[in-house]
Amino acid sequence: MKAMVLKHITSLAENGEPLDLVDMPTPVPKEYEVLLQVAVCGVCHTELDEIEGRTPPSHFSIIPGHQVVGRIVKQGPGASRWRTGDRVGIAWIHSACGVCDFCRSGRENLCDDFKATGRDAHGGYAEYTTVHENFAYPIPESLSDAEAAPLLCAGAIGYRSLCLASLRDGNNLGLTGFGASAHLVLMMAKHLYPNSKVFVFSRTEGERMFAQELGAVWAGNTEDRSPEKLHAVIDTTPAWSPVVDAMQNLEKGGRLVINAIRKEEGDKKALLKLDYPRDLWMEKEIKSVANITRNDVEDFLKLAAEIPIRPEIQEYRLEEANRALVELKSGKIRGSKVLKIGD
Ligand SMILES: [Zn+2]
Ligand SMILES: [Zn+2]
Repeated sequence: MKAMVLKHITSLAENGEPLDLVDMPTPVPKEYEVLLQVAVCGVCHTELDEIEGRTPPSHFSIIPGHQVVGRIVKQGPGASRWRTGDRVGIAWIHSACGVCDFCRSGRENLCDDFKATGRDAHGGYAEYTTVHENFAYPIPESLSDAEAAPLLCAGAIGYRSLCLASLRDGNNLGLTGFGASAHLVLMMAKHLYPNSKVFVFSRTEGERMFAQELGAVWAGNTEDRSPEKLHAVIDTTPAWSPVVDAMQNLEKGGRLVINAIRKEEGDKKALLKLDYPRDLWMEKEIKSVANITRNDVEDFLKLAAEIPIRPEIQEYRLEEANRALVELKSGKIRGSKVLKIGD
């Protein structure tokens, strides 16, 4: 099968072709696993973190990609949950131990043995991939393959962030950064909290306009003061300055949720500008969101079909994965990028 693989950590600024196109044997599903023929795989910011070593793969070569939509073509010994031909998705959570305290209390996203698709196990930048049958999800019929793929990460983690924001209907929500995940959060927030106002902070004019087209009441730069205080803010930027700036916009008792697997080191000094009485006192909170659970993915896919959420898509061929990654790195984002692989 054809696959795009990462062979070592590299810098996208210096190397515009971090992945190599290779021909490799089609994987054979092991016990309780299923083999998927991949139709579409989403391209995620986390791939940049894997390639550049901020969340390094546990082995090389590795096939990245954790927003996979495909059809089941073969089942391993004992696998019985699906039928051949079923359309399923694979998300960031490839497996968890199932027995630790976190796993048993509905927090498998925090499991010590959490394995991520495309980082600790081969992902979807390939014609075929395997996964344990219990870590695959039915894709609602109303969504096309390409529409469903970005929902599996950007959408599901956005959903988890929004849940962790603990918003009540009528509360103001801020979104700092407006890429693939945030634009889906805006759609969810308008459905779940119809009386809430959404305020968007972004450095790029295009993203600010896009936010207002989607229903944000206000869009400004990341260092701007919002016209009203915000009960919760979800940050999806890779930097620190927007976090410090956002704390000033938070209402008393408000919570800022950082939805980023890693922050870049470049502007870490911005943290020294945090002013305790202004930015943190009055019970303001900063919380991160880590990984996702299978429940997040399942609940969110149902919600996406119900709303319905149809992400804006930009399609690339498998061989164009490097170009998609470079464009993602340089901030050329409108909606979500996906690799169209099979049919
Ligand atoms: Zn992702
Ligand atoms: Zn566990």
